[in-house]
Amino acid sequence: MSQAPTESHSRIVIVGAGFGGLTAAKRLANTPLDVTVVDQNNYHLFQPLLYQVATASLSPADIASPIRGILRNVDNIRVILAKVSGVDLPRREVLADGRRIPFDDLIIATGAENACVGNDWAHFLPGPKTIDDATYIRRRILIAFELAETEPDADERRRLLNFVVVGGGPTGVELAGSIAELANRALASNFRVIDPRSARIVLVEAAPRLLTTFDPSLSETARRSLGQLGVEVRLRTGVTECDSSGVSIGSERIESRTIIWAAGVKATPAAEWLGAEHDHAGRVMVEPDLSVPGHPNIFVIGDAALMLGANGKPMPGDAGVAKQQGKYVAKLLIARSKSKTFRPFRYRDLGSIAAIGHKSAIVQMHRLKLTGVLGWLVWSVAHIYYLIGFRNRTIVAMNWVWNYLTLQRGTRLITGVTGSRIEDMAKCVLSRAAAKTDGAALPYAATATLEQSSRQAPQSVHVDGRIDQAGDPAKR
Ligand SMILES: Cc1cc2nc3c(=O)[nH]c(=O)nc-3n(C[C@H](O)[C@H](O)[C@H](O)COP(=O)(O)OP(=O)(O)OC[C@H]3O[C@@H](n4cnc5c(N)ncnc54)[C@H](O)[C@@H]3O)c2cc1C
Repeated sequence: MSQAPTESHSRIVIVGAGFGGLTAAKRLANTPLDVTVVDQNNYHLFQPLLYQVATASLSPADIASPIRGILRNVDNIRVILAKVSGVDLPRREVLADGRRIPFDDLIIATGAENACVGNDWAHFLPGPKTIDDATYIRRRILIAFELAETEPDADERRRLLNFVVVGGGPTGVELAGSIAELANRALASNFRVIDPRSARIVLVEAAPRLLTTFDPSLSETARRSLGQLGVEVRLRTGVTECDSSGVSIGSERIESRTIIWAAGVKATPAAEWLGAEHDHAGRVMVEPDLSVPGHPNIFVIGDAALMLGANGKPMPGDAGVAKQQGKYVAKLLIARSKSKTFRPFRYRDLGSIAAIGHKSAIVQMHRLKLTGVLGWLVWSVAHIYYLIGFRNRTIVAMNWVWNYLTLQRGTRLITGVTGSRIEDMAKCVLSRAAAKTDGAALPYAATATLEQSSRQAPQSVHVDGRIDQAGDPAKR
């Protein structure tokens, strides 16, 4: 049982308004407790549909909702737009953009970020984690087709029409299937010189099967369905080398201008802020009531937390876990405010789903397994149900019906870069890498690769490490 502290616990600060933080905030709405929600963005993001923004099916605004708008009718909650950089434990204050925000109870729900292995080339591998990531990937994919249309050199044309997705979890599977449909259907008749259907989409996975958290029979269904969409699936294969013109997987070289990372995430730095024990993916080890050991008034939930499930394995990094944990901590704090004790957290597994293209999905709910169109219907209803806001639900549902009937993609916009030359593409990669290093000088290898992003075959940037995704609990 969670203890019921005797001191006053009225000021609750929630850092992060993602699935976990927002659920906690909604549960604490209209209580006598004084709640502050701090997020670095002014919107709540529905990450499960980011891959559809990256592949031109949906617009960013369709899958994001302003946090202030969601909480507009709740008098006991205020919202602060700020990036948290630490916690002053002795003074019980959150440090955010030069501010100090005092708390009695703190809920950290800052989620995860892309975990590219710490090599220079990690800068070049975008993964769909934020809206900026997704629109950047969309730009890269669409530009590749545009450049291929006017490219005289056959080798470079081939390079532009090859797409490599690294990581065979739900995100990688969904991305690869969606890129294949974009090439084979939505773009098929839109070009005059190239045939977009000749695009090659390769999905690379280090484990012996795709979707390792699903039943092996569903992994096999997913592999077959991707094959029917034209995706080449490479299993038991890690990326050993990567540069701006392709990847090496073992002894095989795949020339490609578009390589996308979907092979794992690591927790945001909550463990550093708290000086707390954590696993290799940075997740804070928490007590059965989700509090941090030694700090009964500080809770870490969602992707930032590590809690073992009934099977002794870490609970999955998914929206269902984050929402249940958010609800639990809110209820615990309400109970504590009434000097009551509360039971430990119990996770209820609602199952897993993954889409393969625009009309097929696999669903696993305990012993129930669904595939094909039936699976896709369950997938669609679940996503519409969990999306926030009537507007977004309606627009996404209408978009899907339109995509289903016409095979078209409504948001094929190249934004953020003007011009059509490969140098412009290189520039947009450079600005991204520079932003990631906060303006600091780029590592030599990264600069070298950018300078070589031209029609000549670039110099290879060798890496020492191998990306081994097998068995990574933080992988999505
Ligand atoms: C591409 C993709 C597809 C996915 N698909 C699925 C799926 O199909 N089904 C499923 O169940 N799960 C899916 N997930 C996983 C799911 O989205 C996460 O498990 C879930 O979002 C975790 O919730 P959270 O509350 O821990 O963190 P998040 O929802 O990530 O929220 C974290 C919040 O904290 C804020 N934040 C972070 N750092 C700071 C800081 N320093 N200061 C202030 N604010 C900060 C962020 O802006 C964000 O709003 C997917 C994830 C990705 C990336």
